[in-house]
Amino acid sequence: MNQPDTADQAANPPLECEMCLKEIPESAAFTPEGSEYVGHFCGIECYQAFLRRQREAEASQE
Ligand SMILES: [Zn+2]
Repeated sequence: MNQPDTADQAANPPLECEMCLKEIPESAAFTPEGSEYVGHFCGIECYQAFLRRQREAEASQE
C-alpha cells in the first residue's frame, strides 16, 4: 500500500485561506503584494471580503 509522502507535506504544510479557512495549495494561494502581510487567500474575492471586514472592524473601534 502506497502512503502519501508525508515528509514532503511537513516541508510544505497546506495554507489556509484567511477568510474561508479552506486549504489551498501554495501554488494557488493568492497573496496580496504591496501591503503588510495579511495572509493567504484562495482568491481575490476572499481577499476583498477580508479587507471589507477589516475596514468595518477599524471603523467600529472609533
Ligand atoms: Zn477563501
